[in-house]
Amino acid sequence: MAPTYDVIVLGLGGMGSAAAHHLAARGARVLGLEKFGPVHNRGSSHGGSRITRQSYFEDPAYVPLLLRSYELYERLERDTGREVATLCGGVMVGRPDSRTVGGSLASARQWDLPHEVLDAKEIRRRFPTLTPHGDEVALYEARAGLLRPENTVAAHLQLATRGGADLHFEEPVTRWEELPGGAGVRVHTHENAYTAGQLVICPGAWAPQLLTDLGVPFTIERHIMYWFAPDGGTAPYVPERHPIYIWEDAAGVQIYGFPAIDGPDGGAKVAFFRKGTVCTPETIDRTVYDHEVRAMADQLGPRVPTLPGRLLKAATCMYSNTPDEHFVITRHPAHPESTTVACGFSGHGFKFVPVVGEIVADLALTGTTAHPIDLFDPRRPAAAVA
Ligand SMILES: Cc1cc2nc3c(=O)[nH]c(=O)nc-3n(C[C@H](O)[C@H](O)[C@H](O)COP(=O)(O)OP(=O)(O)OC[C@H]3O[C@@H](n4cnc5c(N)ncnc54)[C@H](O)[C@@H]3O)c2cc1C
Repeated sequence: MAPTYDVIVLGLGGMGSAAAHHLAARGARVLGLEKFGPVHNRGSSHGGSRITRQSYFEDPAYVPLLLRSYELYERLERDTGREVATLCGGVMVGRPDSRTVGGSLASARQWDLPHEVLDAKEIRRRFPTLTPHGDEVALYEARAGLLRPENTVAAHLQLATRGGADLHFEEPVTRWEELPGGAGVRVHTHENAYTAGQLVICPGAWAPQLLTDLGVPFTIERHIMYWFAPDGGTAPYVPERHPIYIWEDAAGVQIYGFPAIDGPDGGAKVAFFRKGTVCTPETIDRTVYDHEVRAMADQLGPRVPTLPGRLLKAATCMYSNTPDEHFVITRHPAHPESTTVACGFSGHGFKFVPVVGEIVADLALTGTTAHPIDLFDPRRPAAAVA
């Protein structure tokens, strides 16, 4: 019997919602299965804002994907009328030889991306809320800014539905198996079993339990987002005047922050980058403790002195790290005929959401993609080293 669907997408968070849209837009019969409700706050795609930028200190190999992602984010806004991106500009601050500054500059030069290098005095002049040390500089990128994760997921779900996808929420996948003779896959939930020619797995923080045979030792981390009320009000922090920032100190600790996008009473959001604690989606502690708020305020105080006075709220979220912090996007090595995987986004995946949807649709429907994804092969040596 022919399978009911062309493709089943497991997980309708950031990546899965984009995959469902791109697959449906190409005419595939798509079923999306999601453990929770639409646009939930139990995974990795919530908290109101995510940084986007093109100068990429993690590796210049990401830049072509970023350029495509920017195009697709613009198209997403046009096609849905939802606000998903605010390009308020961004500064990557630190010593000239820091990874944040040096790596961003190297990728900007390699790809000829528009950018400026600002010394400490010029940073203070342009952005008076920021008070760098005399030996710190910044790479300024006018096309950096912020994305709205909840709106992005909602927009992709909207387009997937418009394209004819069946999306089932509160229906976790419990297991799946390949059908004999290369006939596709059967996917089980508590209530039902569905068949499809292809399976796409976008599991976020559930990767360790759903992808045990991938050979990548994922680490799931609890991270905290903090919203502080600036002393003297949010006026100097509005996106028309204030950039996003990533700021690396002399010890290599990075923080990042956003303009005030939630009105005069919403504060401005900040967080540590890559300073989480190991957890699982089942055991994550959602309480944020006083000592954690103090650590954030202490790091922020010398750099953005009017910000850390009064905490308005804090929330937790999960990173899904690979050992080398590069993504995993691939045909599943153990099931190359039937299964595509996108996971291990290691705390920097959101800016790639639409292009990952496009890549996953390529892989599921044609087995290959024209996008450069060699870096994301789970068989790379650095992905296997815990
Ligand atoms: C605090 C924080 C800050 C971040 N900041 C940035 C940033 O500034 N810039 C940036 O680019 N990136 C950032 N990221 C990273 C980015 O948000 C993530 O890489 C991205 O959201 C991951 O999307 P995902 O689809 O992999 O995971 P998710 O959006 O969590 O989606 C996975 C989905 O799979 C579902 N699922 C799991 N198991 C099952 C099952 N058995 N059956 C059905 N469904 C299932 C889950 O319910 C979930 O909806 C940040 C992440 C965090 C946590």
